[in-house]
Amino acid sequence: MNTDRPPLADTHCHLTSPQFDKDRGEVLKRAKEEGVNRFLVPGLDLASSRRAVELSQRYPEIYVAVGFHPHNAKDWNRSTKQELRELAQSDKVVAIGEIGLDYYRNLSPREKQRSVFQEQLDLALEMELPVVIHNRNSIDDLMSCIESWSARLPTTLRSAPGVLHANSADLENTHKFIEAGFFIGVAGPITYKKAEVLRRITAELPLERVILETDAPYLTPNPKRGKRNEPSYLQLIAQQCATLFEVSLNTISATTSQNATELFSWNHEYTEKTTFEE
Ligand SMILES: [Zn+2]
Repeated sequence: MNTDRPPLADTHCHLTSPQFDKDRGEVLKRAKEEGVNRFLVPGLDLASSRRAVELSQRYPEIYVAVGFHPHNAKDWNRSTKQELRELAQSDKVVAIGEIGLDYYRNLSPREKQRSVFQEQLDLALEMELPVVIHNRNSIDDLMSCIESWSARLPTTLRSAPGVLHANSADLENTHKFIEAGFFIGVAGPITYKKAEVLRRITAELPLERVILETDAPYLTPNPKRGKRNEPSYLQLIAQQCATLFEVSLNTISATTSQNATELFSWNHEYTEKTTFEE
């Protein structure tokens, strides 16, 4: 481990996934050895949001977003919002997410996806929490929801209303999000051989608006592609960013961690005493 390097923050990892049930403690330990010491675990539905809050109570470095992924919008019912609201009272909940629209897989009807997204944008306003946004082939509808939402933001959220996670939008739309104050989540696909366009778009972004994420267990970066993704691989994404932005790895680590702290306000003391043992 390079102990001189500023720590990295994995701003999007699904550590609630059953894929981590056998070795979650080991996974966190390996991440720490690679200098990753802060984690944002987003919910996908009520059960995973609840589980994420439980993990955050056990591991000091884990913070949480609670929310309903667009894939699961069909399961949203009358009591869901109130249950999320109650979960969001936990002091480790720093965002509403993962929310948004997915017109690629269409696992929930689009109309339902839009209404569930809107309900959760409203909840974020009410709780004064930033949002973690998922987009796939849905940028136009997403943008129109965000534009009307942005107009209603309280001052506390105006400079950092959320993140467009694992960004796949084109440069023009990515810039619209940046203009609305959003951070852009950069993930494993920037390491893929065929991702020339994505790398070009990423290199154009202002580094002060970039945060890093693995989206583990998905989107495994090269050269680990084909294996389960985990937060320790965040350094592969950080390395690719250092090349793209033509800055040192230290600059990438320091700037993106600081950006994440600005977004999630998770500025607690990190203590070396913390262990990741089960
Ligand atoms: Zn995700």
